[in-house]
Amino acid sequence: MAEQQGSGAFGGYDDEFVDAIEDDWLCPICRLPLKVPVQTRGCGHRFCELCLERHFMRQERDGQQLTCPLDQNVLIRDKDIFPDKAAERKVRSFVIKCPRGCQWTGELRSKEDHDSECRRFPVNCPNCCGELVPREEISSHTENNCSLAPIPCPFAEMGCNKKVPRPEIESHLNSKMRMHLDLVCTNLKNAKEELRKTKEHLEKTEEQLQNTKERFKETTKKHDERIHALENKPFIYMWKIEGFSAIEEKIKLRYRRAPSISLRDSCPFYTGECSYKVRLRLELSHFKFGTDNCMKIYLIIMKGDFDSFLKWPFAKRATITILDQQENSNERKNITATLPENQLQQEWNSRPRGEYENTAFQFDVMVLSELLKGGGYVQDNSVLIQANSKLLLHETGNKKTNKQTSKLNLQPRTI
Ligand SMILES: [Zn+2]
Ligand SMILES: [Zn+2]
Ligand SMILES: [Zn+2]
Ligand SMILES: [Zn+2]
Ligand SMILES: [Zn+2]
Repeated sequence: MAEQQGSGAFGGYDDEFVDAIEDDWLCPICRLPLKVPVQTRGCGHRFCELCLERHFMRQERDGQQLTCPLDQNVLIRDKDIFPDKAAERKVRSFVIKCPRGCQWTGELRSKEDHDSECRRFPVNCPNCCGELVPREEISSHTENNCSLAPIPCPFAEMGCNKKVPRPEIESHLNSKMRMHLDLVCTNLKNAKEELRKTKEHLEKTEEQLQNTKERFKETTKKHDERIHALENKPFIYMWKIEGFSAIEEKIKLRYRRAPSISLRDSCPFYTGECSYKVRLRLELSHFKFGTDNCMKIYLIIMKGDFDSFLKWPFAKRATITILDQQENSNERKNITATLPENQLQQEWNSRPRGEYENTAFQFDVMVLSELLKGGGYVQDNSVLIQANSKLLLHETGNKKTNKQTSKLNLQPRTI
């Protein structure tokens, strides 16, 4: 019996049954559920057809009489053995698990049906490489492992769409050499054309960049010019000196006793936005008997809010103008004086530090008061003085400007 069990494949069903099988349905020889069961006449024992046949063959070989393996009841092969259909139906209704480990369970009789759909069932590789592959692994096998799977031609990138099994690649390369060369030629041509276009595009882009750069340069230059212009924007301050004759009279009266000087200061003002703080000073002096009345105007630099970041010494060119106010504008002759250049770098132009306004420029407007009376300079007993200032920053070192400055007349001149 042990020998027969060992031969396995020829005994009963060696499937994995879900429930335990009762002894009634097990073959006494192989101890497995009965496969193609037969029953003995007389003693009524059941065996797998194959198991009993093997038992008989061994008895025949040993020259023995054929007997039932369980009770030695004498049996005649053709008369006392018959198929047990009822037992077969019963056994084939027992529930088994899929022998290949998928999740399926079902009656033994539907095992063949399950095989046709079981994902673990081994099938032949469609490329006929000879391997048996579980059904669910076929595509991964043909894609990755199959020795006969078609692979793309090495000229695929050039445009050959042919796929050939690995062993046939060599012959494909040989037979299609001409076509492959043509493909390479076409590709090369296209690549060249592509390169030319790219180059052209690059050149255009470079040109645009250059244009943009130039436009940017121009804009920057314009902005620079504008900033320069703003910095150089001439500043105008108007000072109306009222009651002018009274000042003169006072001087004259005083002078009867001694030479006298009379001063009048303007309000403080800035010579532009965030610039120097200054005021104008008018000085009238009387030295001789009514003949040499003299008028001087000073620019006094005061301590201002922006001194810390201004350029020192005072870096502006200042001009004052005594305005001719007569009605006929064609006849007007303004008197203008510019700050003498030799005063610009003087110590008294440095930044005022103390509480006092320590610095002064002198415009030598040597104008006789008689002259003032003669023109339209005094109207409604008032004199109008206009102060202009302009940054020197951008002019220092410029010879042309320096020349012009040096030419400026300290004497009164008309414009
Ligand atoms: Zn028996
Ligand atoms: Zn058996
Ligand atoms: Zn299965
Ligand atoms: Zn294969
Ligand atoms: Zn090819």
